Amino acid sequence: MDSTKHFNVLIIGAGPAGVGAAVTLSKRGIKSIAIIERSDKIGGIPSFYKKKKGGVRTFVRWSRGGIPVFGEEYAQWLEKQLLKSKVRIELQSQVLNIDAKKKILTLVNPKEGEVNYSADAIVMACGSREETPAERGWLAGSRPVRVFFTKQLLSLLDDNHLLPMNNPLIIGSDLIGYAAAAKLKAAGASDAVIVDNCNRPKCSIFERLYFRMWSNPKYQGLKSKSIEITGNKAASGVRLNGKNIPCDGIVICGELIPNSELALIGNIKVELPSRKPVVTEDYQLSESGWFAAGNILGGFHGAEWCYFNGRRVARAVVNYLSESS
Ligand SMILES: Cc1cc2nc3c(=O)[nH]c(=O)nc-3n(C[C@H](O)[C@H](O)[C@H](O)COP(=O)(O)OP(=O)(O)OC[C@H]3O[C@@H](n4cnc5c(N)ncnc54)[C@H](O)[C@@H]3O)c2cc1C
Repeated sequence: MDSTKHFNVLIIGAGPAGVGAAVTLSKRGIKSIAIIERSDKIGGIPSFYKKKKGGVRTFVRWSRGGIPVFGEEYAQWLEKQLLKSKVRIELQSQVLNIDAKKKILTLVNPKEGEVNYSADAIVMACGSREETPAERGWLAGSRPVRVFFTKQLLSLLDDNHLLPMNNPLIIGSDLIGYAAAAKLKAAGASDAVIVDNCNRPKCSIFERLYFRMWSNPKYQGLKSKSIEITGNKAASGVRLNGKNIPCDGIVICGELIPNSELALIGNIKVELPSRKPVVTEDYQLSESGWFAAGNILGGFHGAEWCYFNGRRVARAVVNYLSESS
């Protein structure tokens, strides 16, 4: 007997893009929708940014007049939207494999073990991850201690109330880098030095002005493809185009890679080496009935952009379903 469960639409990932897509599909009258999330909570990346007294609100609600909130609050708002809808929520469920032609997902979860779900249309809203230094071709070999990724830094600052450095240096100048500088200063560190391989910071002037409330990091932009961390045991600085910049801890931020592994498994077209899935104007992937939404599309986008992108993709899915029925 075929035990595959069938839905009208399946959404992989319950971050801002996946939730935006799910609630819009539900509002548009699509009957059976399931959202599949590998972690045990709704919200994707924002859910890691804890609400904290004296902390920095880094998620801007542009649709609410630009109110900044904590990521955790944004994730709670997403969860509320989802719970109000009729969408089936599958947490702790990781999609491991796809059959793109048959529109079947194989997932594992504690309730069912390994199980197959199929759908008339599928939205990939799997987000993106920070590129490792090796992937960037920057830091070969071993890495000294006191070099952190944003998520590790957040865990130390927000979950454990630990300040891992006093004179930070941040590699990466988009919103994530400026948000990290503000969080470190709010926690007691000095103003960070931010370095990147472009003349101007990638973070918009509006966002930089907002983060000035907490910190005024010094930007050192140099057209250099390589950066070398100095210090044998612990990071003591970086060398950029022969120039030494001292610090007592480094945060590597930004430069996101789309989580397009599932697309690659299913032979859905993905640009390499950027790993961006190839999409049409209405966010359709190379296999019929497959769509992509949010940060998986590549580049850096704030959470609110991803939420609204998910909604836009949902409208394209509704059109697809009505044309194919
Ligand atoms: C480190 C970092 C810091 C950021 N800081 C800010 C900030 O301060 N302010 C701001 O506005 N924006 C920030 N952003 C950007 C913003 O958080 C993202 O753009 C937004 O969360 C992307 O939404 P998304 O739904 O596309 O992906 P995500 O939020 O990444 O959600 C994707 C979801 O898919 C799930 N998933 C992935 N693969 C699978 C699978 N195989 N099976 C099941 N589930 C899966 C993941 O668990 C995740 O929950 C940051 C991004 C990063 C990476």
